[in-house]
Amino acid sequence: MTEALHNLQVHQEELRAQNEELHQAQGHIEKVSARYRDLFEYSPVGYFIIDDNVSVVDANITGMGMLGRTKGRIAGKPFLLFIDKKCRHDLDDHFATVRSVGRASTELWLLPDQRPPFPVNLESVRLGDGWGEGWRCLSTAMDVTERNRAEMALRESEIRFRAIFEQSPLAIQIVDAESVPRMSNRAWVRLWGQASSIPVAGGGHPVLNQIGAESLLVEGLAGRSLEISAIHVVADGEQGEDRWVHGYAYPILGQGDSVPEVVLVHEDITERKRIELALTDRTALLRRQYENLRVLSEIAALPPGPASQKLADALDLGRRHLDLSMGMISRVEGSRFTVEHHSASEETAMADFDLASTYCALVMEQDDVVAIAHWARSPHADHPCYRTHGLESYVGVPIRVRGKAYGTVNFCSTTSSPRDFDDGDKEFMRLLARWIGAVLEEDAIRRDLARSNAELEQFAYIASHDLRSPLRQVSSYVSLLERRYGDKLDADAREFIAFAHDGAVRMDQLVVDLLEFSRIGRNAKPVALVALSEVVHESCANLHSNIIDANGRVDIVGALPMIQCDPADLVRLFQNLIGNAIKYSLPERPPVVTITAATGPMSHVVTVRDNGIGIEQIYHDTIFGVFKRLHTPDKYEGTGIGLAICKKIVDQHNGRIWVESSLGEGTAFHVELPRGS
Ligand code: ADP
Repeated sequence: MTEALHNLQVHQEELRAQNEELHQAQGHIEKVSARYRDLFEYSPVGYFIIDDNVSVVDANITGMGMLGRTKGRIAGKPFLLFIDKKCRHDLDDHFATVRSVGRASTELWLLPDQRPPFPVNLESVRLGDGWGEGWRCLSTAMDVTERNRAEMALRESEIRFRAIFEQSPLAIQIVDAESVPRMSNRAWVRLWGQASSIPVAGGGHPVLNQIGAESLLVEGLAGRSLEISAIHVVADGEQGEDRWVHGYAYPILGQGDSVPEVVLVHEDITERKRIELALTDRTALLRRQYENLRVLSEIAALPPGPASQKLADALDLGRRHLDLSMGMISRVEGSRFTVEHHSASEETAMADFDLASTYCALVMEQDDVVAIAHWARSPHADHPCYRTHGLESYVGVPIRVRGKAYGTVNFCSTTSSPRDFDDGDKEFMRLLARWIGAVLEEDAIRRDLARSNAELEQFAYIASHDLRSPLRQVSSYVSLLERRYGDKLDADAREFIAFAHDGAVRMDQLVVDLLEFSRIGRNAKPVALVALSEVVHESCANLHSNIIDANGRVDIVGALPMIQCDPADLVRLFQNLIGNAIKYSLPERPPVVTITAATGPMSHVVTVRDNGIGIEQIYHDTIFGVFKRLHTPDKYEGTGIGLAICKKIVDQHNGRIWVESSLGEGTAFHVELPRGS
């Protein structure tokens, strides 16, 4: 009994210990279970336990939050109710998959209460039997709104990059660190064709080959950008054409300092370069044209002097301008070629030649410029002129004088020209030939004029000596007749004799005046700076008796300038004007002559004003002509040459003379003379 009691006590003790252990184990299980519950409830993903009917058995706090509902509003409800309509089919498919293969993953849109739907990634896995009656699965829902947004942004950025990359007018290629092209855009393929698939290194890349691929890659891979402007890519093969590209290379930086890829960018600047080169050519041409014009204007501005000097100077300027050693003007008459003027960098003998053996034969034949920079290479290499004279470069053009072929002007050298002759040079030659033609023409005219002047001089001599002596004879015999037989003649006869005498005297005066007119300006006389007041005083002194007889007066009003002139001519000019002012006075008004002067920036204007009979407007121009008179000699004496002489003197001084007057109102003659001449 005691033993049985003892056993019972032991057993009881064991039971108590076991109970204690069980208690402890249960407590542990409850703790673990609570922990798992917490893990389940507070997991960042939504958990849903789904049963056979695709109804929600349980959901964690996150799941409830996702659906915006309490557990009471979720438990036992079909999961379909919480899914956006548009993906209900997907949900069916999803669970069908779980049933057949045990798990599924699908992107669906959850439909929370009072909130817009949002995307989740639903991953379901079939649960074991320990999860209660029938089929159970655990579906985890992860909110993928942010991920989707990031993916979308990435996709958009990719599309944008693609669009920029592909549509870019710049040729772009991305090359990896092993120098293998990874991507080439359309512009690249358009520009380099097959080059898009050729490795950069190894010499196969036609572009990079020419611009130093190694250094380009080395720079790029070292993380540095490189810009190469205007690379001339010579055509590869027969079909291609030379191109100009502007190139850049820059690295795409990876993790740390690594450079996984290098971007090559090429801009096709062939067209721009072509325009640039054309512009450079054009600028050079314009510069040469400017030089041509500058030399031509220098030639045109050569100081006046003998034609031979001007022509020699022009040849010298032309020769230097064209960079050739000789320049000459030749006369061509029939088959003779005569060098008339020349300029050479070194002493050269110039002579007459047979035209056929000269380069100018070609110029005369073509009647236009012949310009050859390298004669040996020209189509005229076998012309006799080349064999005879051996000139390597030549430019020549015909000269015309008075519309007729005269000869040529040409420049040449025994060596070839440093540059080819262009249209500008040809135009230069044509213009130079015109200028030379004009100088030669002017020279011919001057010589003609000198000849006719000499003839006129001869005539003047005859007129003064041969014509005046019979006149003097007539007048002296008429005087003798009157003296000797005057008292034996009747009044009529005496009157006739007086007329004859007057006529002879007037005729003599006419001849004297004409001689004076023809002499003005014939011989160039030295000019001097003369006080106009002295000129006027001398003129008045010469007219002294006329002024006294007419009871007249000459007043100088204000200061008179100094004038650069031929003093004798100027005395004659003012003597004529003052003489007329005294002569053409009204009987009732004694003549008063005033002389004034005004000085402008370029000239002096001297005015001789009278109070005489005046001149009708219609005669204001004609009175300056030879023999133009408005009165008969019986009223006012004169030959009608005085004003013509005045005009000629003023013309000789590069001046101007004009009249201001009206009938009965007096007259003013104005003389304008340039200052300093
Ligand atoms: P001449 O006096 O010998 O006739 P001019 O050539 O000097 O010749 O003058 C031409 C004409 O101009 C004169 O005949 C005269 O009719 C007119 N004439 C010139 N000077 C004057 C003047 N101061 N007043 C009026 N008429 C003038």
